[in-house]
Amino acid sequence: MSLLEVRGLQVHFPIKRGIVLERTVGAVRAVDGVDLAVERGRTLGIVGESGCGKSTLGRAILQLEPVTAGTVAFDGEDLARLKPTAMRAMRRRMQMVFQDPLASLDPRQSVASVLSEPLRTHGEKGPYDKRVRELLDLVGLPSSAASRYPHEFSGGQRQRVGIARAIALSPELIVADEPVSALDVSIQAQVVNLLEELQERLSLTYLVIAHDLAVVRHISDDIAVMYLGTIVEVAPSEDLYARPLHPYTIALLSAIPIPDPEVEDRRERVLLRGDLPSAADPPSGCRFHTRCPYRQPTRCDDEVPVLRTPEGFPGQAVACHWAEQVASGQLRPASSPVVATAPDG
Ligand code: SF4
Repeated sequence: MSLLEVRGLQVHFPIKRGIVLERTVGAVRAVDGVDLAVERGRTLGIVGESGCGKSTLGRAILQLEPVTAGTVAFDGEDLARLKPTAMRAMRRRMQMVFQDPLASLDPRQSVASVLSEPLRTHGEKGPYDKRVRELLDLVGLPSSAASRYPHEFSGGQRQRVGIARAIALSPELIVADEPVSALDVSIQAQVVNLLEELQERLSLTYLVIAHDLAVVRHISDDIAVMYLGTIVEVAPSEDLYARPLHPYTIALLSAIPIPDPEVEDRRERVLLRGDLPSAADPPSGCRFHTRCPYRQPTRCDDEVPVLRTPEGFPGQAVACHWAEQVASGQLRPASSPVVATAPDG
């Protein structure tokens, strides 16, 4: 049984109009029918452009966002059916690491206070000094850090404090939302390494959300690519990098710089037309058809592609009518793939 299992998850935000008589005139479909599963001790990376719904998905999984439809099951328990006391007990098993460590830490609280707060909130008896020292040690900070305040730390150190707070209650699942994107590139690898070490030592399961495929590459066992509220491709990390099947994944991967300057000079980048469409009015058929360089109007504009395992690619799932033809090169992009712009990622 998977530790986390999400089925048909939808998170829609109503669009309201009118001042005196407010009425609902539509909905922003931030998450629109997501299925995913994460096995205990593994890491699922979720990648997509900003605005694709990935952060909303993370918050909805932790029940921090009201769910419109679908289910989130943690260790076999449907979270929506839990009574408040059971949900409270469940919350300590699932924690979040935020993108901006400074915004998520109260500047008036010392690190000792930040780290003991979840323990106090969940009824653990003090004093907490020993546990605070243990947590600091786990994230590679000296015990003297306990008496300092968040603004006295560097960005990387603040994220270490954020991670220490997330593991304070010995959770099983951590949802990390862009855990390194606010950090200098030189610090990012250290924080990713720390997350990996902690996973090993504490048997953690991770859901790592990022807009950058390069960031999730090393930490993820599997990667789900998200576009406009839906998952368009899921695959083991190595397979996704070696043979991306969905045109959107191909575009995201083509945007990653290659360290070798000679190879970098020859790097082909796939152009996506326009911006991410509005989640309040997603395109018909394949949601990606307005930007897809492989679009075949006859099917792509009208028929919604389902997430399926294409022939010859066991272990991968892709929501594209033409995945086999794209992978074999039978279908070529409409415009030249050698272009200068691509989405962030
Ligand atoms: Fe592109 Fe069509 Fe595949 Fe959608 S179904 S990704 S528009 S080729």
